Amino acid sequence: MQNERYDAIIVGAGHNGLVCANYLARKGLRTLVIERRKMVGGAAVTEELWPGIKVSTASYVCSLLDRQIIKELELAKYGFVFIGKEPQSFTPMLNGEHLFLYGDMKDTKKEISRFSRHDAKAYERYDRYLTGIVEAMDPILKQSPPDIGSMASLAKFGLLNRRLVRKAQDFVDVMSLSVKDFLDRWFESDELKASLATDGIVGAMAAPSTPGTAYILLHHVMGNIEGRGRWGYVQGGMGSVSEALAKSAKSRGVKIMTDAPVDRILVEGGRAVGVVVGKRTYRAGIIVSNAEPKRTFLEMVGEDKLGENFLWKVKNYQTRSSSFKINMLLNGLPDFECYPNKTELPEPQHKGSIYMCEDFEYMERAFDDAKYGMPSRNPVISMFIPSSVDKTLAPNGTYVAGCFVQYAPYKLKGTDWNRENSKFIKSTISTIRKYAPNIDDILVNVQGLSPVDLESRFGLTGGNIFHGDMTPDQLFFSRFSYGTPVKGLYLCGSGTHPGGGVSGLPGFNAAKYILRNIRKI
Ligand SMILES: Cc1cc2nc3c(=O)[nH]c(=O)nc-3n(C[C@H](O)[C@H](O)[C@H](O)COP(=O)(O)OP(=O)(O)OC[C@H]3O[C@@H](n4cnc5c(N)ncnc54)[C@H](O)[C@@H]3O)c2cc1C
Repeated sequence: MQNERYDAIIVGAGHNGLVCANYLARKGLRTLVIERRKMVGGAAVTEELWPGIKVSTASYVCSLLDRQIIKELELAKYGFVFIGKEPQSFTPMLNGEHLFLYGDMKDTKKEISRFSRHDAKAYERYDRYLTGIVEAMDPILKQSPPDIGSMASLAKFGLLNRRLVRKAQDFVDVMSLSVKDFLDRWFESDELKASLATDGIVGAMAAPSTPGTAYILLHHVMGNIEGRGRWGYVQGGMGSVSEALAKSAKSRGVKIMTDAPVDRILVEGGRAVGVVVGKRTYRAGIIVSNAEPKRTFLEMVGEDKLGENFLWKVKNYQTRSSSFKINMLLNGLPDFECYPNKTELPEPQHKGSIYMCEDFEYMERAFDDAKYGMPSRNPVISMFIPSSVDKTLAPNGTYVAGCFVQYAPYKLKGTDWNRENSKFIKSTISTIRKYAPNIDDILVNVQGLSPVDLESRFGLTGGNIFHGDMTPDQLFFSRFSYGTPVKGLYLCGSGTHPGGGVSGLPGFNAAKYILRNIRKI
């Protein structure tokens, strides 16, 4: 058995692992990143699914990636280019109506007023309200959560975050309300509520009426790359974020190994001292796991190394999922019955997120199927066509499109995803056909990733896209801490605060925590 020594070893080259590696290396730590897949990026990757066609196979849009990280790690220099979405979204309706939401408030209000003058007015206040909460929360996104058992720690947190304390009522509302109750407080139009509500259920095994889903919506408006809550694409696909982070890390001397699954995290005398990859052992004083917490502790560390209480937390940590990702190659663009294509393709209806779900009742019924262990017969679909704005993904005349589809429960009753995968793709396509009847004519190739595929391909336990449910009982101080009960072992992935999404913040916070622990800052 061969030994290699580093100051820090990071298990997993997801974007958070790479951010963490960068910040550790900036302080002079000899850092090794070890990734099980052949490529870096975890759920932020671009893969050549079909010859010459680049696809963001998992995550597909960007907003949460932190500006400080982009700047300090010089991601633009290493190829990161953000392409803002405009319009932000397009919602076709079966009654022949449609709704665009734009980055620009005036245009959006004008569009909403076609449905409700009340909602057009309310939308501006709603936007200010959400922005107010998010800006008050902003500082805590880059803080380690306080120790809930310590008055001193809580008092310090309160003093540091007076703005958030003043917004406590709003914050409690958003944490506890369902996205349905939350939006019903503000708006009357089904078209608008359907367009906004999908952000509250994305990635969750929850209905719009499930308490706590309003927070998932808030999580989606926290980003501030180019304007608060605005989303966009990344040139070359989401893998360009990870590639840029990897290049930045390498420029700081970080060594990255791919195609190297870590079998075990070595714990000796209660301390993490290294990792085992096949027949090789790599040693370091600091071991950081970017992998999801259950996978980290139950598979790599081992139950016998953990105390009873902590093991209870790990075992009861929820990683439910009901998301299904469909990646498509098209040789034309969808022609929506309610908003037909003209001549100059692509047009605005192709450039933003395209939401296909009629209203809350439609979403609730979609969830009802999932609740009883069945894929939704009429699923909720977010479609997007990144190559409508990014020509680097597919040759002229062809388009890369994706659908993020809810609900597809990880555990099915009386069947399994081997049998259901192609059926679910078919039922998604037949739903799209109701809005855009030309879908069959333009579809060249398709890949469907069930929650079980998301687990095996990306290492996402239970297929959960956020490394664990983003429910109030698993957020902030109730998520996993960067430090662990095993000395020298840390976590830096989305199972830590502030959770999932391509933000880089868990990796950033973990690096700060580790460096403070070893007194480098
Ligand atoms: C289908 C889908 C769509 C999404 N859409 C969006 C979106 O549009 N926008 C957005 O912001 N977020 C989106 N998300 C969420 C977001 O992509 C994730 O929350 C985020 O990428 C997780 O990053 P991470 O670095 O914490 O973990 P990961 O990306 O999961 O990285 C963990 C890494 O650890 C590696 N690993 C695990 N075990 C081992 C081992 N034993 N040895 C070595 N390596 C190991 C894994 O292979 C992986 O590379 C989506 C996720 C999915 C799955």
